[in-house]
Amino acid sequence: MVDALRAAGYRLTPDRAALLSYLAQRETLVSIGDLVEQARELGVSRPTVFRLLEALTAQGMAVRFTEENGSRTFYTFCTRSHHHHIVCTGCGRVEQVETPHLELELRDVAEHKGYEVHRHNLELFGLCPGCRAGRPA
Ligand SMILES: [Zn+2]
Ligand SMILES: [Zn+2]
Ligand SMILES: [Zn+2]
Repeated sequence: MVDALRAAGYRLTPDRAALLSYLAQRETLVSIGDLVEQARELGVSRPTVFRLLEALTAQGMAVRFTEENGSRTFYTFCTRSHHHHIVCTGCGRVEQVETPHLELELRDVAEHKGYEVHRHNLELFGLCPGCRAGRPA
């Protein structure tokens, strides 16, 4: 994550790098509130957090989720290349999934329609095994 941002020409101070390594370890969705709070502890200012989020989103390394009623925003942070997510609506756990067959099929469908597609979004929402068993992971 840090290397990829540097490669994209983003200047990373040690405090920003520390924030990134914290984010890369998280296995659940991170709310904006948590993010700003964690950043503050690491000495990263709020505007910097938002600039960092923008840069990460542009690089495909952060994906934003909004609650169905639109009240809260969460992020998940990614180190892999193209993939999708399964999000647990019970505990906020996020898993990255790769769907090679689906990718090909989506491209075929678009090509068949005469489109050149540049990107797509696909996220799955449900309950993780832990939540299904009644014990939050
Ligand atoms: Zn991801
Ligand atoms: Zn869960
Ligand atoms: Zn895809």
